[in-house]
Amino acid sequence: MKKIVICGSTGSIGRQALEVCEWFPQQLRPVALVGGSNIELLAEQVRKFKPEAVALADENKYAEFKRLLGDVPTEILVGEAGVLQAAAWPGADMQVAAISGLAGLKPTLQGLAAGLGIAFANKEVLVAAGELVMEQVVAGDSCFLPVDSEHSAIWQCLGAPARPWEAQPAVASLLLTCSGGPFREADAATIAAAGPQETLRHPTWQMGAKITVDSATLLNKGLEVIEAHWLFNLPYERIEAVIHPESIIHSLVQYQDGASLAQLSYPDMRLPIQYALSYPERWPNQLRPLNFAELASLTFQKPDEQRFPCFHLAREAGLAGGTMPAVLSGANEALVAAFLAGRIRLGQIAEGLAAALEAHQSTAKPDLQAIVQADAWARAFVAEWLTRHAF
Ligand code: NDP
Repeated sequence: MKKIVICGSTGSIGRQALEVCEWFPQQLRPVALVGGSNIELLAEQVRKFKPEAVALADENKYAEFKRLLGDVPTEILVGEAGVLQAAAWPGADMQVAAISGLAGLKPTLQGLAAGLGIAFANKEVLVAAGELVMEQVVAGDSCFLPVDSEHSAIWQCLGAPARPWEAQPAVASLLLTCSGGPFREADAATIAAAGPQETLRHPTWQMGAKITVDSATLLNKGLEVIEAHWLFNLPYERIEAVIHPESIIHSLVQYQDGASLAQLSYPDMRLPIQYALSYPERWPNQLRPLNFAELASLTFQKPDEQRFPCFHLAREAGLAGGTMPAVLSGANEALVAAFLAGRIRLGQIAEGLAAALEAHQSTAKPDLQAIVQADAWARAFVAEWLTRHAF
């Protein structure tokens, strides 16, 4: 029986992680849940899964949350301190790291420090703090396993090594696939003027709002290139992206002898979540296996960096290193929030990002404090930028 902490249990990944736990009641037991502010859903999850502990990040909702929970034996924790306590809950074996954004950084570090294995969904953490996090991962012996479908695919094509970052001399390059999002065929003017409604209509994946916007700008693919750089310890010039609208091939590894290995399945995040939790085993489940006769064709095209400038900006920030990726991620979180609130159009996300990256003075080899400061600087920069550019 693996005891699991689910950080971000009320989100898209967290809810699916709980579903996977429900499929395997003999093998997986959620012992602690962590949520942000959705108290109705968090209370429902506590009543259903009866974890030992639950942490609510939003302290203002504590009284109402307690009222909703009534008389449950679960220990209730609150605020950032409570989140960190639950993230490394005593007796737990693994943490699903699925809090969105930089808010996931400290809970991930806390889980690692306590020796928990990490099933890792939160890409913003590796983007902003890749060097810092990987130093802690490499120094310890906890497992650190990808949940993001592309990284899970690459990991599987590498033979699912316990330490994915250790040298893979036979690997030539990694190829991350990408659906292209809702604007794959749209012209630059349509993309620039898009609002939240049409942007949130992703063609192949059901995900949280922030990552759905990132998929539409292709920033998500740029973040994933940085994530792959850290997780698989490969230089940027050996990590490429390719548009694959059918979302059947989840990524590929190209080997030095010319062989390419790919991982294929219907798009469903419950599969990579399950594999990170069942690893090193594979467990039979209720997901539909691929029906090859049904697949008419699998197509590929190069990402168009003119129409999707965010992809290029992310790669450049990754290459620049230091605090540039933290600024990229923090500024993007603030710009996406403004976009979802109807304050800017989709094309302005790239404009705001470019302005923030241009204005930032990067710090080399940042520690935790420098990363948190760079993230805060980026958000403040965007807040000021919005006063001049938002509607
Ligand atoms: P959601 O927005 O759906 O969920 C985010 C979760 O984080 C919610 O449970 C939210 O709580 C919680 N949260 C937010 N802020 C805090 C905080 N300060 N403290 C504690 N909890 C907090 O996001 P997704 O599930 O879509 O994505 C999660 C991560 O996984 C992201 O980094 C994303 O990039 C990555 N990912 C997601 C995929 C997907 O298919 N969704 C695919 C691959 C990667 P609440 O809602 O209660 O406020």
